Amino acid sequence: MAGKVYLVGAGPGDPKLITVKGLEVLRKSDAVVYDRLASPRLLEEARPGAEQYYVGKLPERHSMTQEEINGLLVRLAKEGKTVTRLKGGDPCVFGRAGEEAEALLAHGIPFEIVPGVTSAVAVPAYAGIPVTHREYSSSFTVATGHEKPEKLDTMIDWRHLSDAGKTIVFLMGVSRIGHIAEQLMSHGRPPDTPVALVRWGTRAEQETLVGTLATIAEQVREADFQPPAVIVVGEVVRLRERLSWYERLPLFGRRVLITRARAQAGELADRIEALGGEPVEFPVIALKEPDDPEKCAALDAALDRLDRFDWILFTSVNGVEFFFRRMRRRGVDIRAMHRATIAAVGPATREALMKYGLVVEELPQLYQAEGLLEAIRPKVRPGQTVLLPRADIARKTLPEELRRLGCAVTEVDVYENVPCEDGADRIVELLNEGAVDAVTFTSSSTARNFADIIRRRTDRFAELMAPVRIACIGPLTAKTAEECGMRADIVPEQATIDALAQALAERLGPRPSKYDAPGRRYH
Ligand code: SAH
Repeated sequence: MAGKVYLVGAGPGDPKLITVKGLEVLRKSDAVVYDRLASPRLLEEARPGAEQYYVGKLPERHSMTQEEINGLLVRLAKEGKTVTRLKGGDPCVFGRAGEEAEALLAHGIPFEIVPGVTSAVAVPAYAGIPVTHREYSSSFTVATGHEKPEKLDTMIDWRHLSDAGKTIVFLMGVSRIGHIAEQLMSHGRPPDTPVALVRWGTRAEQETLVGTLATIAEQVREADFQPPAVIVVGEVVRLRERLSWYERLPLFGRRVLITRARAQAGELADRIEALGGEPVEFPVIALKEPDDPEKCAALDAALDRLDRFDWILFTSVNGVEFFFRRMRRRGVDIRAMHRATIAAVGPATREALMKYGLVVEELPQLYQAEGLLEAIRPKVRPGQTVLLPRADIARKTLPEELRRLGCAVTEVDVYENVPCEDGADRIVELLNEGAVDAVTFTSSSTARNFADIIRRRTDRFAELMAPVRIACIGPLTAKTAEECGMRADIVPEQATIDALAQALAERLGPRPSKYDAPGRRYH
């Protein structure tokens, strides 16, 4: 039985600008056929094992003809596959969705169109330019700028666009900007009509160049401003001066590496994104249950006598997650903890415990082992029993001090950190291109593994890391980073993910524009 093809709009670049339906379709597809302008980060959403085909075109160089693309879609569907044809922006706006749909129809293959957020509207919006506005513009036209001048002139009714109340958006028009500006002026648009070019809109690389019909061609030439860009012509461009918002976000245009384990990267990635930055996940550790039978037996033995402990101290979110996973598997009821006072090293660990219905009674001022010790010191009595579920590489201070206070401490390993190198080559490439603004370390092992992994691939470690800011969650991680030959540039006062992201934003600030000095006036 034939499969089905979904012609899906990926949105203009920011991977969150795909539709809910588009993402659903992408996640369930057996094959993904994608373009240059579809965000590469969306591909990570594809099902593991889904086939991926790049059919992107580069300016002046077609890697696959439209007929070949149609043929590929037909073949995959005939193999019974569910196929996502992922296109930048909206598939029906200069996206050749019509032609692909016709080809599918001719072969009796069912298809659906999942609309997307078109760059024609979204890219100006991300530059602070609404395409319509009650005072300035009552309509907008989206036109191609791609054709040869003579053909453009037969396709575009320039006279119709001469009215000052009309916004015109050109896609694929950078190389024709001179002709476009001339035609608009010779058909009556005033030479001081503002024009904006926005390149790689909605992505970390977004750049905006603003001028007037009279000046823009020269500016584009001078700046060597490259496609892909959206061109906006009309009075609405003036609004950018006040409404520019994306380029003013605290981490706009900054690419930040996240080195913590994949399962935990999400929170920091979300923070960075919310601040306008682009998170790049490069997990250098993976977490797993211990497989050493002795360690497992010790853990299970502790779980079997949970009701004997006076204290249970959690020193990480991972510790909590792995502890409860094991408890569930062993069939240990949570009420076995009824006697114990529960303490957590910091707010994230407390949150993790709250999810299991446990209220944390002790939380330190300083979010590390020493702080936890200070918080509970006045309350522990000699002879009390303390359970310490932790990682295999945990530091020894806490148990040693507790023993000095006369406690019977049971340490159990609930998880292990193992190094992970997936995607390392791409990170070295990014470093080589100078495309990384900062790297974040949320534990000593992330700093150590990162340095090891990169050093193994290049002998220019120090040189490549020189322009990169290093952000460490706390002083101990910072110390390890320094020992591994990296300056710890940023260490927040509080050892939390939030504070780390905030400190990064304060230190880095938005990437300055190459063309568009802040406060510059456009008229
Ligand atoms: N279907 C797409 C348009 C495809 S034509 C859509 O609806 O957005 C390709 C042109 O779209 C490019 O030449 C450029 O003009 C524009 N474009 C697409 N994504 C863009 C982006 N992120 N930034 C700037 N221009 C973009």
